[in-house]
Amino acid sequence: MTAQLINGNDLSAKLRADVAQRAAALKARGITPGLAVVLVGDNPASQVYVRNKVKACADNGLHSVLEKHPADMSEADLLALVDRLNKDASIHGILVQLPLPAHIDAQKVIESIAPEKDVDGFHVASAGALMVGQPGFWPCTPYGCMKMLESIGYDLKGKHAVVIGRSNIVGKPMALMLLQKDATVTVCHSRTKDLKAQTLQADVIVAAVGKRDVLTFDMVKPGAVVIDVGMNRDDAGKLCGDVDFEGVSKVASYITPVPGGVGPMTITMLLVNTIEAAERL
Ligand code: NAP
Repeated sequence: MTAQLINGNDLSAKLRADVAQRAAALKARGITPGLAVVLVGDNPASQVYVRNKVKACADNGLHSVLEKHPADMSEADLLALVDRLNKDASIHGILVQLPLPAHIDAQKVIESIAPEKDVDGFHVASAGALMVGQPGFWPCTPYGCMKMLESIGYDLKGKHAVVIGRSNIVGKPMALMLLQKDATVTVCHSRTKDLKAQTLQADVIVAAVGKRDVLTFDMVKPGAVVIDVGMNRDDAGKLCGDVDFEGVSKVASYITPVPGGVGPMTITMLLVNTIEAAERL
């Protein structure tokens, strides 16, 4: 078997076209959807992410404000900035780029974002809403993975999904979203005793670990769907995922590439959440 690719760039282009249409419809009603992106410090990766998010807004008819502050910004000043953005009617979504400098309590800052502007979906109110199946903002990366499964018409009902990784931003919300679609879900992590025994039972595998070759071809049931969230570097310094793409492509039915898979979907779902925040007004 040679797996079919789920192309995150192509799917993103479709979803972004819809975002642009919805942004135009809002503008016709006098509302320009606005996203505030807050960057504290000069982490090089964060600078790239923030730049891409601001560009994606501009390309799709959203207004964005980049709040760039030095690494020694105090927690109190950051909280005051979030408070100002919470009250700013031209801002519908607020994103504080993580990681924050060590002297700032990141969770405290996230909890200070008004839940109706929490387009990253990291606020406990958003996490709680997902947990109990109420409307709220879903974290962008797992939300993007769900859209990828939807794009191939995959019915999760009764399927066994294995999520590798249990972070608050990817693994745990991913598991809840799969559960909400009636999959039977297993969550694996660094203390899981026999990862291969788990993944071999899976109809769908989502790898969100941050280590190369966590999933190899001998760990995948023929015909399984494999979503690779990981972002790592190979020996040549090239971007790669958690999955041994070449090997697993020979057994899976569908697979997401890295780059060009989940990565672009994450920013796309940020745009979708921001449009939704503006439409809810
Ligand atoms: P994280 O917070 O570091 O979580 C990693 C998870 O992997 C943890 O739950 C950890 O278990 C588990 N783990 C570590 N080693 C393992 C092993 N050998 N077997 C099974 N599980 C293992 O990372 P994250 O923020 O969720 O991100 C995961 C990956 O996705 C990273 O590569 C990140 O760069 C990437 N990512 C990509 C996007 C995108 O847009 N494409 C967005 C977000 C993240 P414990 O809980 O036991 O420590």
